[in-house]
Amino acid sequence: MNDVTAHVVILGAGHAGGTAAALLRQYGHEGPITLVGEEPIAPYQRPPLSKAWLKGEADADSLALKPVEFYAENNIDFRSGVRAVSIDRGKKTVALSNGEAVSYDILIIATGARPIVLPIEGKDLAGVLFLRTAEDAEKLKAALGPGKRLAVVGGGYIGLEAAASARALGAEAVVIEREPRLLARVACEALSTFFKDYHEKHGVTFELGAEVTGFKGEGGHVTGVALADGRVIACDAALVGVGARPNDEIASEAGLECARGVVVNLEARTSDPAIFAIGDVAHRPMPIYGRMFRMESVPNALEQAKQAASAITGRPAPAGETPWQWSDQYDIKLQIAGYPFDVDSLVLRGDPKSAKFAVFHLKGDQVQAVEAINSPPEFMMGRQLIGNRKPVSREKLADTTVSMKEVAL
Ligand code: FAD
Repeated sequence: MNDVTAHVVILGAGHAGGTAAALLRQYGHEGPITLVGEEPIAPYQRPPLSKAWLKGEADADSLALKPVEFYAENNIDFRSGVRAVSIDRGKKTVALSNGEAVSYDILIIATGARPIVLPIEGKDLAGVLFLRTAEDAEKLKAALGPGKRLAVVGGGYIGLEAAASARALGAEAVVIEREPRLLARVACEALSTFFKDYHEKHGVTFELGAEVTGFKGEGGHVTGVALADGRVIACDAALVGVGARPNDEIASEAGLECARGVVVNLEARTSDPAIFAIGDVAHRPMPIYGRMFRMESVPNALEQAKQAASAITGRPAPAGETPWQWSDQYDIKLQIAGYPFDVDSLVLRGDPKSAKFAVFHLKGDQVQAVEAINSPPEFMMGRQLIGNRKPVSREKLADTTVSMKEVAL
């Protein structure tokens, strides 16, 4: 039974936490809401940090999820610059880094994820950077510009976006990747090849199959990235983008079930009925694949914020969504729907040379995922096909003279 007067405490004022606070009010929750955030600013969007914002095409206000007055106007007690340290589930309290304790009726853990730090020599040198927060992005931006050289460790989406932004700012960029191809963990080979070629056309250089063993420095500042083959790649700054790990320690220390992320159900509820977990920190079910996993995307943060806010306010559970995300590099818009689980074949639609194509990942005759480059219809219809599990004809899918609408019939 939901209680409209319950005190909801949200740990983490990021995309998921900020959205959950706003939705609770929108859905009619009347009780107190406390939003506790470690960062000094109100909830904001992270995607522009490696894209428009880094290139100077977006300002701090445009990053904000809501204007800062929104929280006071909606009776949301937003506490910035404060870290939640521990949860006492018996007493239903959270200890904060400023020595206070906040009691809750319902708790939402929305603590996100943090960049993986490579445990190697020189990791603490000035100029060895990460990209998760607005503060990180500020430091990275200050390190870029004509005559500067950025070494990006890790050929994933964030690293590639940062390399594209570095080029736009006139800096040189070299991407160092351990695997023999870019985006090895997250994209198919056609996409890896496409992005490598596209970046090379824009002046980015690559070291693939290269193991980073340390950072070299002078006077406490990074000057190069050392590789296992003995070479040192010179740079003025090194951006480490080798993945993120969930900030789930506060949950696991409180005895909540965790599996590289806080385990939740389709209401975003944890093993404790009074505690929810949402966003990058949550390990969640995805019924279309019959699996549990953790996602790092804005649409996932929004979907789970909706799930939790609906459950708390007694609304019907929102309809399940097909996961999706995007990446912007130069004039390329990549849209991805689904995940390529148990895939047995790929279908290419369009021509990579035209920078307008899509790769469909199939299990039998069902679409499991689609990666679409500058191809919104392929993305949209592909996403629908993933959600409704309709069988498709491989021949029609590969034939660009057959419209996506017809393919999906
Ligand atoms: P976050 O937004 O990280 O928020 C978590 C907050 O909790 C942080 O402010 C953190 O400081 C705070 N916190 C942590 N521990 C505590 C604690 N103990 N007490 C109090 N506060 C705490 N997704 C896309 O879909 N498309 C993109 O193009 C895209 N680009 C991205 C580019 C960059 C550079 C980054 C970093 C991410 C990008 N993402 C993108 C991912 C997306 O931003 C995340 O999935 C989303 O922000 C997750 O929201 P969240 O609220 O779970 O986590």
